[in-house]
Amino acid sequence: MSVLSKPYFHNEAEAFAFVESVLWAQGPVCPHCGAMGRVYVLAGVRTKATKKNPEGVVREGLKKCGDCRKQFTVRIGTIFEESHLPLHKWLQAIFLMCSSKKGVSSHQLHRTLEVTYKTAWFLSHRIREAMRDGELAPFGGGGGIVEVDETFQGQDPDAAPSKMAIRNKNAILTLVERGGRARSIVMPVDQLNAANIAEVLSVNVVKEARLRTDEAKHYITPGKAYAEHQSVAHAREEYVSKDDPTVHTNTVEGFYSIFKRGMKGVYQHCSKKHLHRYAAEFDFRYSNRIALGVDDKARAVTALKGVVGKRLTYRRPHDGLNARG
Ligand SMILES: [Zn+2]
Repeated sequence: MSVLSKPYFHNEAEAFAFVESVLWAQGPVCPHCGAMGRVYVLAGVRTKATKKNPEGVVREGLKKCGDCRKQFTVRIGTIFEESHLPLHKWLQAIFLMCSSKKGVSSHQLHRTLEVTYKTAWFLSHRIREAMRDGELAPFGGGGGIVEVDETFQGQDPDAAPSKMAIRNKNAILTLVERGGRARSIVMPVDQLNAANIAEVLSVNVVKEARLRTDEAKHYITPGKAYAEHQSVAHAREEYVSKDDPTVHTNTVEGFYSIFKRGMKGVYQHCSKKHLHRYAAEFDFRYSNRIALGVDDKARAVTALKGVVGKRLTYRRPHDGLNARG
């Protein structure tokens, strides 16, 4: 039996049961008043008759709160709420995006799920939002090693005109905890300086951490706030220090190599506006990777737990179509 033959990928009632088991592990919670316990299942309630469905369709997962008397389903208050897409298709999309190392394009989702391109585009951005790191626990606790590096991605239409190609791109600063998580911050190239790097580090890295960077000048002052800061001289073709083999930035460079291949091969056109979401997607898969004991299913369940409280509404959907994620 393949993973894709799981009933919750195909059957709407099973999909509701699965999502409820993840989001309501302690039992249903009324999203209107927060009550638990006195919640009733409204079985067999149908929607109003339409031309297409003269007998209406069954409202799966419908509940009624014994306290406030209001009705609800597990979709309320989540990224699923404002979409008519069946929940089992959402689960298919989440699984695909969580199990593909370099991501899945909206065009691919559009073809695989047999939904419109526009739906696929909305869907994938909402799933990226679910992947966004909700807990912001800092890196480097217990003197752990944190590698910091920057890369440049896509064009920044707001950058001051420059003949240097790199000055017209978006900058991404990435922190990788060796043997742990990744966190990427998108910023305009002209703001990639010591002061801003120091600020990002102060929020995301504890003082006892041991930093590893390349020899770029903008890491020198920020690095002084940490228990240790060592760098490799890439300009001199030094990639691992001869004196101390823990001094390298190969981990964060490995992260960038997957990110770059994904952005180039899968997400060819990504606008500046959405770049932070794509970065969050790669951070999420990295921080929940198989080497840390997280398999595809567990990763999808973690993403599913992130759907709560992250409804995204785009007032101007045509913006998105220009981005062609
Ligand atoms: Zn209630």
